[in-house]
Amino acid sequence: MGKVTGFLEIDRRDRRYAPASDRIRHYREFVIPLSEEATKDQAARCMNCGIPYCHNGCPVNNQIPDWNDLVYHADWQEAALNLHSTNNFPEFTGRVCPAPCEAACTLNLNDVPVTIKTIECAIVDRGFKEGWIKPEPTSKKTGKRIAVIGSGPAGMAAAQQLARAGHEVHLYEKNAKLGGLLRYGIPDFKMEKHLIDRRLKQMEAEGVIFHAGINVGVDLDAKSLVADHDAVVLAGGAEKPRDLPIPGRELGGVHFAMDFLPQQNRRVGKEKIHTNEPILASGKHVVVIGGGDTGSDCIGTSIRQGALSVTQIEIMPQPPEKENKQLTWPDWPLKMRTSSSHEEGAVRDFGVLTREFTGKDGMVRGLHCVRVDHKLQPIEGSDFELKADLVLLAMGFVSPLHEGLLHNLGVNLDQRGNVVADTVHYQTSLDKVFACGDMRRGQSLVVWAIREGRQAAHAVDAYLMGETALPR
Ligand SMILES: Cc1cc2nc3c(=O)[nH]c(=O)nc-3n(C[C@H](O)[C@H](O)[C@H](O)COP(=O)(O)OP(=O)(O)OC[C@H]3O[C@@H](n4cnc5c(N)ncnc54)[C@H](O)[C@@H]3O)c2cc1C
Ligand code: SF4
Repeated sequence: MGKVTGFLEIDRRDRRYAPASDRIRHYREFVIPLSEEATKDQAARCMNCGIPYCHNGCPVNNQIPDWNDLVYHADWQEAALNLHSTNNFPEFTGRVCPAPCEAACTLNLNDVPVTIKTIECAIVDRGFKEGWIKPEPTSKKTGKRIAVIGSGPAGMAAAQQLARAGHEVHLYEKNAKLGGLLRYGIPDFKMEKHLIDRRLKQMEAEGVIFHAGINVGVDLDAKSLVADHDAVVLAGGAEKPRDLPIPGRELGGVHFAMDFLPQQNRRVGKEKIHTNEPILASGKHVVVIGGGDTGSDCIGTSIRQGALSVTQIEIMPQPPEKENKQLTWPDWPLKMRTSSSHEEGAVRDFGVLTREFTGKDGMVRGLHCVRVDHKLQPIEGSDFELKADLVLLAMGFVSPLHEGLLHNLGVNLDQRGNVVADTVHYQTSLDKVFACGDMRRGQSLVVWAIREGRQAAHAVDAYLMGETALPR
């Protein structure tokens, strides 16, 4: 373990943010890394618990106490090696993961978990800086051809693992650039996109062949693609947004979050925006409906665009400030979470149901709302109006899109509309077709997508070769 008495002697210290007044002027990342010494100190706080709950808390089962110890002893290169043995893209998770590992850390019983995510990010950033993270091409070639459809974290992880196992991997993406929601959903201020390009370069050098700008099932017949390959992995994400079909929904200025956010990411990435109607928050009163990550990203983006005001409303009651550890630890607790975007100037309101969008000349001007009790029933006499020139619907995602790829293939779907496949074989109802990530499990997290991509690669390799050395 790090330092035996580290957790007693050293206080938890985490990365800070640049001041809100500065960071809202640009779209760059604003997290200030800890110094090397401070990171080593934080790693020294790890207690190397007999049962490291953080392992289970982390969906890719990162070997956290091991690399904490390596960082404490300044063996950063071995730490980077260890980290990559379980996680293909720690530079993504080290920035955007909500860190369920930290919720599961034993020191979280006292609200001072090890700063695991920060240490993870420091290890991989150092690894790239030192030039330790290089392409790992294999000389072994199996002669098998695999198509991976969808280039989000699930598709990227599956493609990288399968190429390293010696297969010829073709990664298909309907957008102009690869990366999935990492590229077009998550704003640059949370994760800059050169990080994706750097990994894609590594994957290209390992033999992955990219096909961007091809919507499989629309531009290319999905059944022919299956016929032309030895295996196909579906990793198309969960793109169908939850709608709010109430009076006034048709008014101009009411948009899905994922119509708004990708436009800004494309602007930052100097990509063309294929619309005559740019959605911009500048000079507008913005209301974001939905309290999750997507909603929070809409806030940060609206504020950077120069919104007059940003209000976020959520139908669920306000969660408690602090969880009851006896009931929740080491699981992920429901509690009030304040993101960097919230701190930048949004007003938040909970237990609010929107009844109607009101407008003038076809454009939204406001929301008619009512407060609801803990059973989500309207409270009589609690109606109120909210001013809004732009409404962003960020209420989550229902399922993958069925039109195109999935209908074209005729693959079985579960009751929620996700592709049916278990988490051992990842095999769909169709021969040699596999599924992983949000397309299989429904809307989730980057780290779960990486896990599923890795595990699906293991399953595909075993299916094709009869055995596999790829880790699960
Ligand atoms: C705004 C927003 C913010 C988020 N923030 C976070 C966060 O901070 N932390 C976190 O952990 N998670 C976050 N998430 C969730 C996370 O991004 C997803 O869970 C994760 O990206 C899912 O990975 P995936 O590879 O399964 O799918 P995706 O990332 O959705 O990638 C699927 C890809 O498949 C492509 N595709 C689909 N169909 C086809 C087809 N027929 N042909 C070709 N290509 C196709 C899509 O264009 C897309 O690029 C956020 C999600 C959103 C929407
Ligand atoms: S990937 Fe997420 S859960 Fe796993 S160690 Fe990193 S921050 Fe923690």
